[in-house]
Amino acid sequence: MSSALSFEVFPPNTQIGTEKLFKTLKELQQLEPDFISVTCSNNRQTIEETTLKVADYIHRKLKVPTIAHLPAAYLSQSQLAELVKRLDQIGINQILALRGDILPDLPPKKDFVYASDLIQYVKREAPHLHISGACYPESHPESLNRIEDIKQLKHKVAVGCEQLITQLFFDNDLFYQFQESCYLADIKVPILAGIMPIVNRNQALRLIKTTNTKLPRKFLAILEKYEHDPVALREAGLAYAIDQIVDLTTQDVSGIHLYTMNNAEVAKHIYHNTKNVLNGQWKAG
Ligand code: FAD
Repeated sequence: MSSALSFEVFPPNTQIGTEKLFKTLKELQQLEPDFISVTCSNNRQTIEETTLKVADYIHRKLKVPTIAHLPAAYLSQSQLAELVKRLDQIGINQILALRGDILPDLPPKKDFVYASDLIQYVKREAPHLHISGACYPESHPESLNRIEDIKQLKHKVAVGCEQLITQLFFDNDLFYQFQESCYLADIKVPILAGIMPIVNRNQALRLIKTTNTKLPRKFLAILEKYEHDPVALREAGLAYAIDQIVDLTTQDVSGIHLYTMNNAEVAKHIYHNTKNVLNGQWKAG
């Protein structure tokens, strides 16, 4: 059984950054991903120039299946309808339906309180769109407990989410436990595993500061030992991600979603070191 490989990119804020990303995307295209997804800040003013511009390039110019992320907490129904119209004009028919993060000093709108509200709306008003949703192997930070989180996830799927993509994680066992909980809760849609290769110290420090993701002993040892050796840290970080992917693939994960951080070299390294594992079609007997 083969596993899908997809990439995630984020739109830069500057024109120069966008042009650089377009070059990166051309390199990612060569790796024939199942899709590329484009993140979206929940600041709607810039979405035309950021997410939609990049998604348009991937879909129309590179002809790679594209998923546009759509955080909706700060959108009204009419703004959402406008965005769906723009996606239709471009020809994109896949979205990642999100609530998005709530900014401490800006109250959200009331039309889409949770991602499931957005999913219900899209299912009703734009049923041609394929809908993915976010999920959290270590639970969403706001949820009361794991059971409550799985209950809400089940609702998300029941109202029309057709595929789930996980938050990044570094401990595969936590992913397997989460997968099992989903199975027991009768959540049967494909769950793509979000993997972020750690390739430099700043990225690692940022992660430690901002994430509630468990960092296993083996992972922390890499950061500690190679803290002042960027070349070794990069090599060890890539090896760690590859090891995670090999393990997930042997357990028949539905797909690997690589958080590329817009770095084509990293994606290429991972691809070339896992492509036979991901595409393994060989069967005994
Ligand atoms: P929801 O599914 O709405 O869940 C949010 C919280 O509410 C959870 O605790 C959940 O358990 C709870 N909940 C859900 N439904 C209900 C209900 N009916 N009643 C009570 N509680 C409920 N953010 C961005 O801004 N832009 C991006 O591009 C982006 N891309 C992402 C991609 C992936 C793969 C992932 C995993 C996350 C991404 N995020 C992005 C981050 C995401 O927006 C935040 O984690 C956000 O805080 C939650 O969004 P959600 O869609 O998961 O919310």
